[in-house]
Amino acid sequence: MEPLARHFWDGCAAGELRLRRCTSCDTWQTFPREFCTACGSTSLQWRRAAGTGTVHAATLVTRAPSDAFRPLVPYAILLVDLDEGVRMMAHGMPGLAIGQRVAVTFLAHEGRHLPRFVAL
Ligand SMILES: [Zn+2]
Repeated sequence: MEPLARHFWDGCAAGELRLRRCTSCDTWQTFPREFCTACGSTSLQWRRAAGTGTVHAATLVTRAPSDAFRPLVPYAILLVDLDEGVRMMAHGMPGLAIGQRVAVTFLAHEGRHLPRFVAL
């Protein structure tokens, strides 16, 4: 697994949503980035995000893309605007609507802990 992804998934396994933040201008980064999207600095640090945000978009998956995800159907795929200013894609509980406040949880599945947002 590539190092950037490993840091992210290690955080999920520890129950933390970890994102990179620029040490020069304090901007949180869309995962995964090697440089700051605001100032171009390569001085980025892994930090724990609050794990809260607002649903930007939601779709319901009723047909799994692979056998591994079949047991989870139906599940929502969300775009969540995190409070840190980063938009991320993640699983969500069915029924979440655009504009709804959500918080991250982690679902153990196939050897990983998938971020899965629930209603706040
Ligand atoms: Zn920066």
